[in-house]
Amino acid sequence: MKLDVNALRYLSKDDFRVLTAVEMGMRNHEIVPSELVERIASLKHGGTYKVLKNLLKYKLLHHDSSKYDGFRLTYLGYDFLAIKTLVNRGVFVAVGRQIGVGKESDIFEVAKEDGTVLAMKLHRLGRISFRSVKSKRDYLRHRSSYNWLYLSRLAAVKEFAFMKALEEHGFPVPSAVDCNRHCVIMSLVEGYPLVQVKQLQNPDVVFETIIGLVVRLAEHGLIHCDFNEFNIMIDDDEKVTMIDFPQMVSVSHRNAQMYFDRDVECIFKFFRKRFNLSFHETVDDENDVEIDNDESVRPCFSSISKGVGSLDKELAASGFTRKDQEDIEKFIENGLEGDADSGGEEDETEDTDGVEVEHLHISEEETLNGDENAGRQRNHEACQIDVSEHDSD
Ligand code: ADP
Ligand code: MG
Repeated sequence: MKLDVNALRYLSKDDFRVLTAVEMGMRNHEIVPSELVERIASLKHGGTYKVLKNLLKYKLLHHDSSKYDGFRLTYLGYDFLAIKTLVNRGVFVAVGRQIGVGKESDIFEVAKEDGTVLAMKLHRLGRISFRSVKSKRDYLRHRSSYNWLYLSRLAAVKEFAFMKALEEHGFPVPSAVDCNRHCVIMSLVEGYPLVQVKQLQNPDVVFETIIGLVVRLAEHGLIHCDFNEFNIMIDDDEKVTMIDFPQMVSVSHRNAQMYFDRDVECIFKFFRKRFNLSFHETVDDENDVEIDNDESVRPCFSSISKGVGSLDKELAASGFTRKDQEDIEKFIENGLEGDADSGGEEDETEDTDGVEVEHLHISEEETLNGDENAGRQRNHEACQIDVSEHDSD
């Protein structure tokens, strides 16, 4: 998805006030009735109407009058709220080029005031698979808390918590900087996803390191669940960094063994194919053939996950609650169990139909009374668009 943050500079305090009012209304309404937006925003002299028109022009809101007259946020509207909050907090001052597009996220460079470039991951859970999930699984009919806003926020909170904990335990992960709504700010990883790497100086060393990570994670009580060549970054010195954590589960998860084995298998398969690595070959003399017998070198889940560390429990005790974990697992498991149903990208106008939001935790003061400490360096080299100097009156 394109992210044109140019408009950020022209948006006023009232614009953000109304945008936030819609966000707050979405806690209980799929489409927020116009009167409710007006009441929450409570602008003087009926100014809300004019502001709503402006927000529609910039595609930050979607207007829906099918059942009653109302509005809801678009992805872009939600992006703007998160970006504005983070800029106000002084986390970064400019948004630059897109550096990654994942299945359920968009990743951009952002620059700090001192020029340091960071990575911004905007979660888009539900962008691709929400509708197919909705049509296949009936748990959604019994739970009212599923929509893209809620799920994307949950994914970001989880990713941030896990990244931080993994970093603290010495895992090679990006450094977790900050998080707001569906947006995670982290350090920029040098290098490329392993999938783009055609040659390695020391494929066996890299392989050992990567398998070592899966094992060490399990020893800490965790399974990545999407551990593959897309989520492993490698730099020119062949240093490995793992990324992408919203789908991680505890070793006590009922499908833990299967997820662990699948992570391991992905790595074996990739290294066998891409780098011709063979694992513990035995020779069948009689028939003069080599048998690729990698079973003996494969890490065994049941022996690793016994008497392990408890990072999984630590995380459950941190801001990421059990209910959060259950909610996101239910959604993500559909993807984990089979990605086949992820058809092309869907328009965001489609994916919230019939779903009400129950728990969307928004800090009101963050946007309604956000500090206006913007106004800094312009046109940073690495970044195309400075978002710090919007009209904030
Ligand atoms: P998704 O969950 O959508 O798969 P990822 O976290 O895997 O998202 O990121 C998608 C792509 O964005 C990665 O393959 C990588 O190329 C790039 N990327 C993600 N995080 C970073 C980072 N911290 N530094 C540099 N590139 C990154
Ligand atoms: Mg990924």
